[in-house]
Amino acid sequence: MSANSPTRVALVTGTSSGIGAAVVADLRAQGHEVLAVDFNPEGRQTAEAEGAAFYQADLTQGEACRGAVDEALARFGRVDILVNNAGIQHVAPIVDFPEEQWRRIIDLMLTAPFLLTQAVWPSMRDNGWGRIINIASVHAQVASPGKSAYISAKHGMIGLTKTAALEGGAQGITANALCPAYVKTPLVDNQISDQAKLHGMEEQQVIEQIMLKNAAVKRLIEPSEVASLVAYLASDAAGAVTGASWNIDLGWTAQ
Ligand code: NAD
Repeated sequence: MSANSPTRVALVTGTSSGIGAAVVADLRAQGHEVLAVDFNPEGRQTAEAEGAAFYQADLTQGEACRGAVDEALARFGRVDILVNNAGIQHVAPIVDFPEEQWRRIIDLMLTAPFLLTQAVWPSMRDNGWGRIINIASVHAQVASPGKSAYISAKHGMIGLTKTAALEGGAQGITANALCPAYVKTPLVDNQISDQAKLHGMEEQQVIEQIMLKNAAVKRLIEPSEVASLVAYLASDAAGAVTGASWNIDLGWTAQ
């Protein structure tokens, strides 16, 4: 913990694996208190190994979103940093896309970030300091076939981020979105097999010909690389940075 970085309280969603687990580890390493929220009970072990508290919740449910924030407030007395990270994927063309999957993805990846932002807002406003960090995606900037719900939710998340930035500016609350390309996580492992079926390809071909097709840097991203940017945006040093979309996309959107 540097002299410039006081201990903060963070609520991070989707923490059992992948990017969320890396964010919890990084924020803990900097001495912040963390409530890790996930519907997977195995997330407790991951969180507690880092010294974070854990709250089990299915964030597709509004009550669960409010319950998670209530837990953080009861445990730590405030929330300074919100990292909206929980996400799922379903790959199918629009014509075959199941309505239930559409609704679940929008509920988890757009409505839950809205409800969590709403619920943490009074604490941030009252303390005159807050950081809302939304894990969007390169698919918040560009589309790919087969991912209509995911891409719609992520594009919407940019709108939510910009609105929160404008409303929070006078209250010491910043809001930013991160837009990673493919990160080495279980979510991507599942996509590789789904995309292989969708396109009738081998899995290695999916990685090289689809996932890295537009990348200038030809490798998958490490979860810790995303967590490092979250840590910066959560810091006092990033106080002037708000309403922005941060691409960590291997150069994908440079063309
Ligand atoms: P992951 O599958 O490793 O992690 C997702 C987490 O969300 C898991 O811990 C899971 O249990 C949790 N979760 C799922 N449904 C939930 C629910 N209903 N309630 C609460 N928690 C739930 O995936 P990841 O790759 O680490 O993805 C994290 C975020 O990063 C997602 O929003 C994803 O869209 C985004 N993202 C990932 C990539 C990538 O390539 N991996 C790229 C860009 C953006």
